[in-house]
Amino acid sequence: MRVLMVAPPGAGKGTQGAVIAAHFDIPHIATGDLLRDHVARRTDLGRAVQHHLDEGELVPDRIVLDMVRAEMVEARDRGGYVLDGVPRSLSQAQELYKIGRELEMTADVALHLKAEDDELIRRLLARAALEHRSDDNEAVIRHRLDLYHTITHPIVAWYAKRGILVSVDAMRPAERVGRQILTALETMRPLLQHVPEHAREPIDLTGLSAAFGTTDTARRAVRTEGSRA
Ligand code: ADP
Repeated sequence: MRVLMVAPPGAGKGTQGAVIAAHFDIPHIATGDLLRDHVARRTDLGRAVQHHLDEGELVPDRIVLDMVRAEMVEARDRGGYVLDGVPRSLSQAQELYKIGRELEMTADVALHLKAEDDELIRRLLARAALEHRSDDNEAVIRHRLDLYHTITHPIVAWYAKRGILVSVDAMRPAERVGRQILTALETMRPLLQHVPEHAREPIDLTGLSAAFGTTDTARRAVRTEGSRA
């Protein structure tokens, strides 16, 4: 089972990612946890990304994708993975797909956890009181939510078009959300196991740009403008 999750902060990616990983006995690859671990250990990478995390900004793609690629290579013999926190943007979705093709491990399911902002802010502030995460204060929480809506959420439509989207209402208690996710994934499991990588339909990555309202021509134009300035 190969699952990636697309969800706003506070929707329960970490909790549900752990549930899925335990149920299918697959690695739970959580980019936020991996990055926070680097920060805690004061590695070079940790020092380079700390201010991005504290301010709720995205860490540069290269850093995150290299980390995720290494974890996916490790996951190769483990029967799948559950990705938590990646992809978070158009470019990450494209790059992740390329890594998946290269390793013959493209995602079977894109799991979208839906929840309303008010509830997310309530949960994140409650967590802030207990966990003291450096990015769980109201201003940074609102910024992370803004980034989710503008940069991350649009990729949901692309996964829908690809036919691998499963959307779940994450406003309910965690156990009920978990049960619904496992029921959906178990229902799909027999179908997924019979589709070898080479038989999967290749994805047209330009379609992803279209879903974002940008085209190669438009992007080239922006780049040319930028280099002239
Ligand atoms: P949340 O979803 O609650 O914001 P995460 O633990 O998934 O929490 O992420 C925490 C922080 O880690 C993000 O705000 C960002 O700075 C960084 N991060 C995690 N995943 C990525 C990613 N795929 N791309 C860029 N930055 C990331």
